[in-house]
Amino acid sequence: MANMIKAWLECTRCNKQYDLEKVRYSCDCGGTLDMRRDLSAVDGQKMKQLWEDRWGTKRGLYASGVWRYKELIFDCEDDCVVSRQEGNTRLYDAGKAGEYAGLKNFYLKHEGENPTGSFKDRGMTCGLTAAKFYHANSVACASTGNTSASMSSYAAIAGLRSVIFIPEGKIAYGKLAQALAFGGKTLQIKGNFDDAMELVQEVCDELNIYLVNSINPFRIEGQKAIGFEVLQQLDWEVPDWFVIPGGNLGNNTALSKGMQELYELGIINKIPKIAVIQAAGSAPLSKMWKDGSDFTAVKDPDTIATAIKIGNPVSWEKSLRGIKWSGGIVEDVTEQEIMDAKAMVDLAGIGAEPASCCSVAGAKKLVDMGIIKPEETVVGILTGNILKDPDAVIGYHKDELGSMGIKGNYANAPLIIEASVDAVKKALL
Ligand SMILES: *Cc1c(COP(=O)(O)O)cnc(C)c1O
Ligand SMILES: [Zn+2]
Repeated sequence: MANMIKAWLECTRCNKQYDLEKVRYSCDCGGTLDMRRDLSAVDGQKMKQLWEDRWGTKRGLYASGVWRYKELIFDCEDDCVVSRQEGNTRLYDAGKAGEYAGLKNFYLKHEGENPTGSFKDRGMTCGLTAAKFYHANSVACASTGNTSASMSSYAAIAGLRSVIFIPEGKIAYGKLAQALAFGGKTLQIKGNFDDAMELVQEVCDELNIYLVNSINPFRIEGQKAIGFEVLQQLDWEVPDWFVIPGGNLGNNTALSKGMQELYELGIINKIPKIAVIQAAGSAPLSKMWKDGSDFTAVKDPDTIATAIKIGNPVSWEKSLRGIKWSGGIVEDVTEQEIMDAKAMVDLAGIGAEPASCCSVAGAKKLVDMGIIKPEETVVGILTGNILKDPDAVIGYHKDELGSMGIKGNYANAPLIIEASVDAVKKALL
């Protein structure tokens, strides 16, 4: 588009506005910031056609499934953009996982097919682009794993230093391996994710490092592209529901924000409901939703779905606002429900990491409760790749997760046999 769309940052609490000239992650009042833009002069139909024309672009900026929608992502100079042609992920028919959930029209959007294996790449391409826009030379994040894998990769591409704060204890091996391999300076701190999140914000202020956690409004803008791409794949037919896991709650915030913008532009004229699914052991938003109580952080969050093991999510206010706007819901699922749903996603031949499978576990639960109707069109977001956490997979299939209260209900354990044809016959019959 010839004319760039005017954008600014706006506080979600007091509506104070800030221009984009200076780095900012929150308002003076402590509220989180949204990127806002003036869409009044934009012709939605023309914009949609522009995105259609870019579909299938072979090289360059618009070959990315994020920057295809640049006008609604970050309309900066093209040479700022740090991209790995992220996005362009598949939208699968859920197959066996659909039968399991009791749904006839169930799609799974596999964000684990991004360059570093999770949806975080969609936000990170925008986060690192902002880092370049602000002339930063270092970036940092607190991470349960995938954010650090993504950040260190994009920082390597951009030639910036990356600093990672990870919680002590379990971090999925695939994720840690990526962070180290891509050259991220990795600091394992004595504390959980929420402690790491607090520390990294202090450190970034003090050492003038650019923070790329999802409190960063540019991250949210990039992640909106998941929803845009799903709609484009569905030829702009709006599904009845999106079902999405919730941890720090940035991803569902992005999804609803993107839908709001498309609605404002008249590109869609129906609002999809957004169901956010948390793990029962790390479910502050779900608790608040169900009890009608004030927000209280969960002190010692726990779940095998380490990507969403977060007790004090930074985006809970924005998230709640978006879910309400969409007419959606918040629900939580047990460890067993997560891992059984995962077994089904995996058996369907699709595969995803544990946190991702909250989408399927949650869809099933909401169908069972009569909230989602079997014939409604539902899109589940699979947030991360199956290879991120092989320990969880092997543990389930060998039925070795008893200490976490998880049974291998659909286990497919390897058999150990003699090296003889007879033994093979016996095993297969
Ligand atoms: C980060 C992450 C989530 C949680 O997303 P939020 O934006 O923090 O709610 C879920 N699944 C995977 C695989 C992730 O990496
Ligand atoms: Zn404010």
